[in-house]
Amino acid sequence: MMKALVYGGPGAMEWTEVPLPELHDPRDAIVRVDAVTICGTDLHILKGDVPEVVNGRILGHEAVGTVLEVGAAVTGVAEGSRVLISCISGCGRCRFCRTGAYGQCLEGGGWVLGHLIDGT
Ligand SMILES: [Zn+2]
Ligand SMILES: [Zn+2]
Repeated sequence: MMKALVYGGPGAMEWTEVPLPELHDPRDAIVRVDAVTICGTDLHILKGDVPEVVNGRILGHEAVGTVLEVGAAVTGVAEGSRVLISCISGCGRCRFCRTGAYGQCLEGGGWVLGHLIDGT
């Protein structure tokens, strides 16, 4: 188990115990967070302005940490790599990522952490 800040609906959040993360996709990496912060977007989520964020979602989309485990398709980082976790993910290969428009990624990127999936 580990500690996480969990959204509980508008105006509600709880620092609570959650299960350790697991790899779900061969492109996933598990990162031990060394530092994380909050930003204006989190404040909007907490006010209920971002309805895609469901109750029970682990918040956070900006952090630095150390890679603990990577999926079989990960080539850019390995166990022990120090990484910056960007709020915007990108596949790096689709037509949008190739022009630096990661927010429009066609392969599952964009703003997903702490939004559509559990965050940092
Ligand atoms: Zn942010
Ligand atoms: Zn992409």
